Amino acid sequence: MGDTKYKRILLKISGEALAGDAKMGINDEVLKEISASIKAVSDLGVQVAVVVGGGNFWRGRSSEKMDRVTADHMGMLATLMNSLALSDALEQMGAVTRVLSAIEVRQMAEPYIRKRAVRHLEKGRIVIFACGTGNPYFSTDSGAALRATEIGADVLLKATMVDGVYDKDPKKHPDAVKYEKVTYDEVLKNDLKVMDATAAAHCRDNHTKMLVFSMEDPENIVRIVKGENLGTLVVKE
Ligand code: UDP
Repeated sequence: MGDTKYKRILLKISGEALAGDAKMGINDEVLKEISASIKAVSDLGVQVAVVVGGGNFWRGRSSEKMDRVTADHMGMLATLMNSLALSDALEQMGAVTRVLSAIEVRQMAEPYIRKRAVRHLEKGRIVIFACGTGNPYFSTDSGAALRATEIGADVLLKATMVDGVYDKDPKKHPDAVKYEKVTYDEVLKNDLKVMDATAAAHCRDNHTKMLVFSMEDPENIVRIVKGENLGTLVVKE
């Protein structure tokens, strides 16, 4: 167990990250690859919490006809499916995990209790937070921001398909410039599409640091906790 840059992290991955090229459902190979990186970080002695989205199955805005609250409930259930899949893949590799859900599903997951989550982390268990904040009209980015603050994570690692935060969309503008560091106020003012505004405001107001990085190579999580300078750091000031 060597020295790592962070002692306790919260990793946020989108549901789509588990889907591979199909964009829907779960791709076994991708799930295994991501799980292996998460386990590698945990094996370094880092306390690891994970929030996974649900967009590979369902999002609240997937239907315009459905009642929004019901649609959001379905979205939260989608995050539960991904959380269970991640837990299963990690346990098959020999990791010990706990899924803690913001909505009670006692037969499948423990209810979320902050002190219990912290105790699991201290014991080296990988904690997966399911069902976001437990409330409709929120996203799993907000769930990740909230939990990262509650458990006192050193950093919220936000995995994306881009290698950091740019001044404009790098996929559309070849002259886009990547930030080394940016403030939440700049993210909000310039609508930088890093995370939704509720989550960004939460992180700003509670001094929760976030590192935005690319998950295209899942090994990047290991590189980051070992201190490599990847991605863009988002801070209060
Ligand atoms: N959701 C919610 N409250 C929360 C977190 C999530 O209602 O606190 C619902 C919402 O409908 C959202 C869906 O769950 O669209 C899936 O989460 P998200 O869209 O954040 O997943 P991702 O885009 O990260 O895969």
